[in-house]
Amino acid sequence: MPKQPDAVSGPGVRNLPGADFLDIEAQLDARERAKLDEVRTFVAEHVTPFAAAWWTAEQFPFDLLPKLGALGVSTPTRHGYSHLFHGLLIAELARADASLATFFMIHHDLFVESLYDFGTEGQRERYLEDAAALRTTGAFALTEPDHGSDVAKGMDTRARREGDTWIVNGAKRWIGNGTFCEHMLLWALDEETGAVRGFVLDTSLPGVSTSRIENKISLRTVQNADVVLEDVRIPEADRFPGIESFSDANQLLRSSRIMVGWLAVGQQLAAFDVARAYVLEREQFGRPLASFQLIQQKLATMLGNATASMALMVQIAHARAQGTERMDQAALAKAFTTERMRETVALGRAALGGNGIVTDHRMARIFADAEAVYTYEGTQDVNQLIVGRSVTGISAIT
Ligand SMILES: Cc1cc2nc3c(=O)[nH]c(=O)nc-3n(C[C@H](O)[C@H](O)[C@H](O)COP(=O)(O)OP(=O)(O)OC[C@H]3O[C@@H](n4cnc5c(N)ncnc54)[C@H](O)[C@@H]3O)c2cc1C
Repeated sequence: MPKQPDAVSGPGVRNLPGADFLDIEAQLDARERAKLDEVRTFVAEHVTPFAAAWWTAEQFPFDLLPKLGALGVSTPTRHGYSHLFHGLLIAELARADASLATFFMIHHDLFVESLYDFGTEGQRERYLEDAAALRTTGAFALTEPDHGSDVAKGMDTRARREGDTWIVNGAKRWIGNGTFCEHMLLWALDEETGAVRGFVLDTSLPGVSTSRIENKISLRTVQNADVVLEDVRIPEADRFPGIESFSDANQLLRSSRIMVGWLAVGQQLAAFDVARAYVLEREQFGRPLASFQLIQQKLATMLGNATASMALMVQIAHARAQGTERMDQAALAKAFTTERMRETVALGRAALGGNGIVTDHRMARIFADAEAVYTYEGTQDVNQLIVGRSVTGISAIT
């Protein structure tokens, strides 16, 4: 049985229970537990010591990619791993660094998965092997400058077919990995039919320009781009034939919302790890902070939030294994876990006092990163409204 990462050390504080309070990891099989341990060793060596510096400098760790690719954890459920393993993998990456987990999720769970779900044999032959090994990287380009929450109702980016070529014009905003990736899953409306189309966009094509969104207060290591498309000529061979309407985007979003739920679990585990270690160490009034009732209450609330979020996500993973998970369930999972996460990281931040607001201490980064996670993949509000629509039969979204 792999040991849970134990942020607690020092005399008298060994053998405390891990943040996975219900020992959910024990539900994995031996191969999965060994792989998760390998991931843990990897992040402890290659991510945790450097993540703060990347974040502060808004610098993406390109050197990490070959090593991360060599771990062999791209789209794990297509390689014999369970949905629970997939979720715990994302949680573990987020526990080390939410920016890294976000990069990973965009590339593998949105771009690479789309090749499996909607691509042709030829597209998979051209792109899959390099993308799975992270020799190339991908993005998911849906949001636009004027269409965020309402992007399903209208996109301004247009594609016009001329023979075997599509001419694309428009703009995208917030595109994670968009400043450096080789490919994007690009969403556009067919000018002639009004149908939704999806393309593998080669970002080196003439007419594609990207610029980085600077000065973010959250997920600073993730490179989000504004993308402008001016008469970009995309070959018909790079259109995803499996994408015919927005419900195909929803299929990917359902799955990535679930992954964001796991990411919110990882953020809460991280907040708990850091807060507990800090309050055991720091003394005020001649006693460890951990000995004060109000501090213990914070820890108990944080752990309760993390545990409830994790238990919900386990059920969703079981539903995915049966192929029965629904969009309203994915929306509930995203809304609930990110709401709990926001409370958890705020309590953790408060437990560190002033040190909770300086990025020299990890908690400040965890706290700030939670804000982007709360907003992307459908805001918390919009996901609540999807659940509201499901339980009332009335849409309050539009
Ligand atoms: C760090 C980060 C990374 C991202 N990565 C990507 C990416 O890789 N690819 C991509 O395509 N997109 C990405 N996004 C975009 C993200 O999905 C959008 O930010 C999100 O969908 C919200 O859209 P918006 O920011 O335009 O906000 P808006 O839609 O303008 O919403 C603003 C506010 O209004 C609320 N609101 C909107 N509509 C309603 C309504 N009907 N009822 C009640 N309240 C409503 C929202 O909840 C929010 O509080 C990313 C965003 C961030 C911040």
